[in-house]
Amino acid sequence: MKHYDARAWVLYRKNRIDEDQRRKMEDHLAACDSCLQSYLAAGAEQDARLAELLLPPDFSTAVKEMISARKQQTYKKHRSRSLVNYAVAAAITLVLMSSGMFDLCARKLPGILAETGQISRAIEKTTHWDAGRLLENARTQFEKLRESKEE
Ligand SMILES: [Zn+2]
Repeated sequence: MKHYDARAWVLYRKNRIDEDQRRKMEDHLAACDSCLQSYLAAGAEQDARLAELLLPPDFSTAVKEMISARKQQTYKKHRSRSLVNYAVAAAITLVLMSSGMFDLCARKLPGILAETGQISRAIEKTTHWDAGRLLENARTQFEKLRESKEE
């Protein structure tokens, strides 16, 4: 069996052979694996050259620049999102400050803490587990707490 070399396959791909030869090569290609390989290789070479002709010379540089631009964009997006979070937190703080919420906490918290301390001390005093007195104490402390909150 006569094989065709790579140059013959390049000519075949470029359509630079007569119809008779072309048919012979096609018949051979259907039966010969090694020529199929050279045919495909000739195609790959041709495709690469074609791509070189079609693509602009700064193609790879342009792609690299595009990729780094995308990366910067996502970085900027990330940064602006954390800035938004910060702004929301600042707004909430301002609202709480203007409504006197922090002030109220600062004034009331020590008193409330002291009262809960009294409750636990009262519970400690009734270590003999007088359930009735324990409940009574708890209720008085609770009443006191409620009165102070209503003020
Ligand atoms: Zn062959």
